Amino acid sequence: MAMKKRTIAILGATGSIGKSTLDVIRRNSRYFEPILFSAHTDQTGLLTLGKEFHSARLVLSGQNVQGTSSAERIHYTGEEGLFQAIASAKADIVVNGIAGSAGLAPSFAAINAGCTRLCLANKETIVMAGSLILERARAKNCHIVPVDSEHSAVFQLLEAHGRDNLDKIILTASGGPFHSFSRDQLTRVAPQDALVHPIWNMGAKITIDSATMANKGLEVIEAVRLFDVDADKIEVVVHPQSIVHSMVRFKDGSIYAQMSKPDMRLPIQNALFYPEKAPITVNSLDFSALTLTFESPNMEIFPLLSLAYQAARMGGLYPAAYNAANEEAAALFLVGKVGFLDINVIVEEVLQKDWIGRLTLESVWNTDRQARDAVADIVTQLHRK
Ligand code: MG
Repeated sequence: MAMKKRTIAILGATGSIGKSTLDVIRRNSRYFEPILFSAHTDQTGLLTLGKEFHSARLVLSGQNVQGTSSAERIHYTGEEGLFQAIASAKADIVVNGIAGSAGLAPSFAAINAGCTRLCLANKETIVMAGSLILERARAKNCHIVPVDSEHSAVFQLLEAHGRDNLDKIILTASGGPFHSFSRDQLTRVAPQDALVHPIWNMGAKITIDSATMANKGLEVIEAVRLFDVDADKIEVVVHPQSIVHSMVRFKDGSIYAQMSKPDMRLPIQNALFYPEKAPITVNSLDFSALTLTFESPNMEIFPLLSLAYQAARMGGLYPAAYNAANEEAAALFLVGKVGFLDINVIVEEVLQKDWIGRLTLESVWNTDRQARDAVADIVTQLHRK
């Protein structure tokens, strides 16, 4: 492969996407040179990376290290420090593996710093800012390549088959740990039950989102905005084995699927190597040991999925409101302040407000704040009952 060596910045380097990315990079050190790592609070993990990759700059975005023994090894701190680090590193490739809405501003910073490729595992960037970020990327000649496994699958399928006669995008969903639960069972779910995912080992926030199916909801919105299709063109199918990562159907009825063992290194290396094909990392499937099942999602039990469709159809600032309300409600559930099913109630109530408006960076952040304030009011009322 005649690929020149590229510099790379990994945001969220100590999280699950960061770890998988580093695994890919260690195997392909001829092609990639890490020059920047960021972590939010995992100082130990960050310093360990600094020892392995001596020349990389380190950023701790969520803590101040002034006056501590780490101060001279960590080059930047705080949110401003993260932006400065991205701007001065000028990496060829930026991998954004930051969880939640905190990933949006760093995505813009990466594009503004002139990266030629943004490998995006942070779905909130697209959900919240959609066309804004895509336009900025286009203007700056930055190629956004999705790392979310479903969107990576769709991206590859559309690259291979074109989109001229595209009829539907079919996103698969593992269904999370509760996909066969009744409503009654869901009322008794505790944070520790929701933090165990049957297939993927991920951070806390996305694991809760997977249990409520808000994660799939966010992915529906992500697909609408990233692939520029109507919400009605996206179908979600529950596929607990997570072997088929997504499918596309064409007008003649043909359906193409992208399949592999569930392993995040695959979408990551596809994004890093694109348009070249990456060397093999993941073991092949053993079809004799495989049973694949598919079922429709139960939108009555998991209303966050249908609410996401609603937000996607409304467009504008609704997706940002959906995202903020869900992020806030999931965080409250994690600390035991609201029940599992309250997350649905909260998001539904927030979406009943008026979120019509033009998408600007300012309106997105206003919406984010207003939706979180609305959650606080709703929770106060829930507790009065
Ligand atoms: Mg996904």
